Amino acid sequence: MKTFPKRLAVMAAVAAGCFAVTAPAADLPKVRVLATGGTIAGAQASATDYGYKSGAYDVNSLLSAVPNLDKLAVITGEQVANIGSQDMNDEIWLKLAKRVNAVLAEPGTDGVLITHGTDTLEETSYFLTLVTKSAKPVVMVGSMRPATAVSADGPGNIYNGVAVVADSRAKGKGTLVVLNDTIHYARNVMKTDTTSVQTFQSLNRGPAGVVHTGKIEWFEPMDKKLGLASEFDVGGLDKLPRVDVIYAHANMSADLIDAAVKNGAQGLVIAGVGDGNMTTPALEAVQKAAKAGVVVVRSTRLAEGLTLRNNEVNDDQMGFVASGELNPAKSRVLLQLALTKTKDPLRIQKMFYEY
Ligand code: ASP
Repeated sequence: MKTFPKRLAVMAAVAAGCFAVTAPAADLPKVRVLATGGTIAGAQASATDYGYKSGAYDVNSLLSAVPNLDKLAVITGEQVANIGSQDMNDEIWLKLAKRVNAVLAEPGTDGVLITHGTDTLEETSYFLTLVTKSAKPVVMVGSMRPATAVSADGPGNIYNGVAVVADSRAKGKGTLVVLNDTIHYARNVMKTDTTSVQTFQSLNRGPAGVVHTGKIEWFEPMDKKLGLASEFDVGGLDKLPRVDVIYAHANMSADLIDAAVKNGAQGLVIAGVGDGNMTTPALEAVQKAAKAGVVVVRSTRLAEGLTLRNNEVNDDQMGFVASGELNPAKSRVLLQLALTKTKDPLRIQKMFYEY
């Protein structure tokens, strides 16, 4: 583990595992931080160097770098993983979700903050919003600049993230994502820019609120099922069904679709052109897959708009599911969970409307 830079951190000589950042104050909320790695825990060779390694610092170092966190909450930290989120997988998702549920079930815990890489944050947050069995706040934060960078954005995001966890109005809103002074519902948020700190956007609906140095303004309520209203449960699961995402393009062939089915995919999400479209050979291949019992979801490779049922493609006739507002990454998450309940495309279509 690297040594955290002195200019950023009050060096806390703390061992890995659970620790208290400040003396417990009876009236402050108790927040558990679950760290998973990412750029927020990333290090460069020097502050101005290009390039860095994700997941270089542990949870203790991250929290030590945030001034005045102890004024917001009593924090304990725990390392669940320490990876670049491009390596996030079903196994860690299940471990993290079970840990979130266990921690929130503790009477002494008021909420959870999760630090995570930004690449797959939109997927992990949607997964958690569907399987968390508590109304207590769960907030995810990441950063676009590594911890060692000039103007690192991680400490500010952690501060605002804890402020949102500590806000009683965050209860029952499912998993929230906080970066760049903006609060997003997990269902709506998407990474839109490879490097900008303004990368996270809720394109179709707009953000859930804003948070500026811990001061919060809520905007939109969420009308989709999540948390306690969700039928999905990771309790009895030790793996998730395989669902592949296939990207559509001009001159798309059936080859990748056939390969996915041959390799055991139980579900396919097509990141379609336009309103979830694909070439005729691809359409024929997914029809064949659907007939063989593979659940096919049509989504779109576009950033905004809905993939509509029975618009250009006759989903009723072909046995497909239309993803509506969900992009391919989020469609994959919902389809994985849906397949733990049913293989019926019409029941799964209803889930895509409801979640
Ligand atoms: N590749 C990094 C990750 O997802 C990017 C980041 O965290 O911003 O872990």
